[in-house]
Amino acid sequence: MSYDTNNIFAKILRGEIPSFKLYEDDYTLAFMDIMPQADGHALVIPKFEAVTLLDIPADQLSHTMTTVQKVMAAQKSELGVEGVVLMQLNGEGAGQSVPHLHFHLIPTHLSKLKRH
Ligand code: ADP
Repeated sequence: MSYDTNNIFAKILRGEIPSFKLYEDDYTLAFMDIMPQADGHALVIPKFEAVTLLDIPADQLSHTMTTVQKVMAAQKSELGVEGVVLMQLNGEGAGQSVPHLHFHLIPTHLSKLKRH
């Protein structure tokens, strides 16, 4: 699939629409999901123009996963979450709605659930 430079995450990367940034480096950006599936739901994206996991070279993917690890570590230490679900959808058939590769980091809050 060809890359659409007008997708919403491309606009976030260019600073054309706002985001709540958590981390940024030369290769990646992490920001909060606008419709969180759980408290602390974050997204990590490469700056490289890829639609799915099949469109990114290994070195760029490595940078992206390093940022995934950083954000996950921060979620665990700062939010005190029990665990984090890493989710990544490839293609409309899988439910991908934004055509720029992204990783969902969705904290689980089991201890909160257990208390109620
Ligand atoms: P789905 O939309 O089915 O969850 P995706 O894996 O493509 O599939 O997820 C896109 C994610 O991007 C959604 O969780 C959505 O809430 C989030 N999102 C959409 N627009 C923005 C935005 N402007 N800022 C932050 N997150 C966004």
